[in-house]
Amino acid sequence: MKLQDKFIALRSKKQAVLATNFYNFETLKGVLLAAKAMEQPLILQLTKSSIDYMGLPVAYQMARSMLNYHGVEGWIHLDHGDSYDLVAQCLDAGFDSVMIDASERPFSENVAITAKVVKLAESYGANVEAELGYIAKLGQDKEKGGFTHPLEAKEFVEATGVNALAVAIGTAHGFYDREPELQLDRLSEIAAATSAALVLHGGSGVPGSSLRKAVDRGICKINLATEIKNIFMGALKVKLLTNEEIDLRKVFPVATDEIVELVKEKLDIVRNLN
Ligand SMILES: [Zn+2]
Repeated sequence: MKLQDKFIALRSKKQAVLATNFYNFETLKGVLLAAKAMEQPLILQLTKSSIDYMGLPVAYQMARSMLNYHGVEGWIHLDHGDSYDLVAQCLDAGFDSVMIDASERPFSENVAITAKVVKLAESYGANVEAELGYIAKLGQDKEKGGFTHPLEAKEFVEATGVNALAVAIGTAHGFYDREPELQLDRLSEIAAATSAALVLHGGSGVPGSSLRKAVDRGICKINLATEIKNIFMGALKVKLLTNEEIDLRKVFPVATDEIVELVKEKLDIVRNLN
């Protein structure tokens, strides 16, 4: 099933799908083993940094072949694409879905580039996600305003035809100093104003109870990245402190297993919503 069709089904049922970033073979294996164990679908996300690190065809083919190998229903998605060129390269490579993130540009420019990407993606049958409002990126001020306005969201979706929309409702990328307070009424108003699948970025560290409320009010995609990187590196550091092993195939599984457990927990939350 195409991701855009999956989203339509999810929205009508008030359900969501988990989207996890991966950075290398081990993190990809971890998220897929979790999805397989929980018999849940998964969106596999690549940022520009991860694509630069692995190489576009390598990252894409590894994700596609491992989805097949592990028998997991999943989609390959460009996370926070920052240019039309990058989006075009990913669509050419075979991505099921792309995000064009022009959220830091003026509204009219965000509309224009998103509409252009939607037009291109149509010829590939691919899903498109955009972002409207300010969701702090790593290192940016989390307290700065810039929440998504429901009427702007309506105008944006109608003007662009975008399938999915990342909304600013109180989450931020990275970890939180204190538990984020989601603006649930705002989310309900955005959901009422537009038919796009709504996306929650900055899912790391958002408690399960808040995730449930967000999905009840229209979130269809929950992004998880920071916690995956963090738990992987944390487990590796501990293992390497007390270990002289040079066979990396005996070292990495400790960290991969941590990802499996983390993503199983998150998938359990998503499944219980569904
Ligand atoms: Zn994000």
